[in-house]
Amino acid sequence: MNTMDNCIFCQILAGKIPSSCVYKDELCTAFLDIGPINTGHVLVIPNEHSSFLSGLDPETGAQIFRVAQRVVQALRSGVVQCDGVNLYLADGEVAGQEVFHVHLHVFPRFVGDGFRLHFGPSRGHQPPKAELDAVADRIRAAI
Ligand code: 5GP
Ligand code: ZN
Repeated sequence: MNTMDNCIFCQILAGKIPSSCVYKDELCTAFLDIGPINTGHVLVIPNEHSSFLSGLDPETGAQIFRVAQRVVQALRSGVVQCDGVNLYLADGEVAGQEVFHVHLHVFPRFVGDGFRLHFGPSRGHQPPKAELDAVADRIRAAI
């Protein structure tokens, strides 16, 4: 297994640091976030170390999302206070990533929980259709 000695999540996977595990299979593991946004905040991570999505095997990425869907189902079943759920993944330091082992946050939301995303000044500005199409062309060509 590809692990990194200085990676906190690899140490959790190796059992060197305790965690509250909710799910494990050959490709990925899910455990509770130590600093939850709300009770029931789960992190789904690949068992193989990868710092960024660009290095993640696509099948593992798909499995992470499958597991996240199962976690959402569990959270919505009434085990914790949950009126809705957010999925969140920070890829890169500028995106807010603090632990450089890919992880998908799955956390329950409920009315009045106080959580909010703060958008930058460009949010709300609607670009002209031609500009959207030009950007779509560039992304489509790169996929
Ligand atoms: P990021 O900001 O990189 O998207 O999220 C990193 C997350 O990892 C944070 O929500 C933080 O609370 C969580 N975290 C950091 N260290 C540990 C740890 O040792 N154990 C667990 N369970 N979660 C951790
Ligand atoms: Zn790691």
